[in-house]
Amino acid sequence: MANGENQVENVVILGSGPAGLAAALYAARAELSPLVLTGTEIGGQVATTSIIENYPGFPDGVGGNELADLFTKNAEKFGARFEYDVVTSVDLSQRPFKLKTYGKEFLAKTVIITTGASPNKLNVPGEKELTGKGVSYCATCDGWFFKDKKVAVVGGGDSALEEGLFLTRYASSVTIIHRRDELRAGALLQKRAMNNPKISFIWDSVVEKINGSDALTSLQLKNKKTGEVSDFPVDGLFVFIGHSPNTDLFKGMLEMNERGYLISDEKRQTSMEGVFAAGEVTDPRFRQVITSAGMGAAAAIEATRLLESEEE
Ligand code: NAP
Repeated sequence: MANGENQVENVVILGSGPAGLAAALYAARAELSPLVLTGTEIGGQVATTSIIENYPGFPDGVGGNELADLFTKNAEKFGARFEYDVVTSVDLSQRPFKLKTYGKEFLAKTVIITTGASPNKLNVPGEKELTGKGVSYCATCDGWFFKDKKVAVVGGGDSALEEGLFLTRYASSVTIIHRRDELRAGALLQKRAMNNPKISFIWDSVVEKINGSDALTSLQLKNKKTGEVSDFPVDGLFVFIGHSPNTDLFKGMLEMNERGYLISDEKRQTSMEGVFAAGEVTDPRFRQVITSAGMGAAAAIEATRLLESEEE
């Protein structure tokens, strides 16, 4: 089982968020003909973001999907190749590295890991059963279903407020439920949310249980300060409580920190020579489109340098 001719790729990029697509552009322009194994969705988390207002060059903002599309076209123009497939196992113990998808196996001289991060779950009763039936982790994907309905958002960070604001386009009301009485989000988003007449806040409270059989009907809330338990009727619940890195595939093979983020050096190289990491999979701190794209470019430059040094 191989990709036809047992061809050894110069660079295989795992993932197609801003880091992966920027790496693809740089590796393509270095004439390495990189192969991108896209994962489930091109663009990663960006593709599920309504509008991006802090990526330079777009003073009026740009849709997440549109930006992912522009990144893809840019990389393709210079010769990046895309395989719309999910990597199921890897062997990074020796070069060439082996990467298996559902139906194929690829060999690679260098690998750039940009598998990103996935939304954290609340892990409360009812969450799993009602996901897709009122519980969602993506306002851009599912907001439309809540036209003139009452929704709640859990979280107090930038994502919760940004996506909560987006949901006001559809919902009749958006209640932000936060476990403290102080938001983590930046000042600008806080101001916008506080000034939006459709948005209200429930402070110091956590969701203990999600109720409903065929569809979400209400949330069981607990006030952490008073201990009071209440029932809060809603049609939709959007959860934005941070992310965890997608690194299960690399456990035991590459060094990670205690939260599972890949450790990479200033060259974006992981603990294995020839394996690089960029974007949220190695960055719990910045998590911006621009920083991820920058890391992707850096990883591709260093992969190019490594391959050149090996040819000498
Ligand atoms: P975040 O900043 O880590 O915030 C997560 C929020 O969820 C926090 O308010 C946290 O509460 C809360 N939380 C965590 N676990 C919880 C639980 N089990 N139950 C209830 N609440 C819980 O995550 P994020 O908002 O996704 O942002 C991630 C990064 O992306 C940040 O660096 C952010 O600045 C960036 N970002 C930027 C933009 C932008 O620039 N426009 C947009 C989106 C994201 P505590 O506050 O009590 O910890």
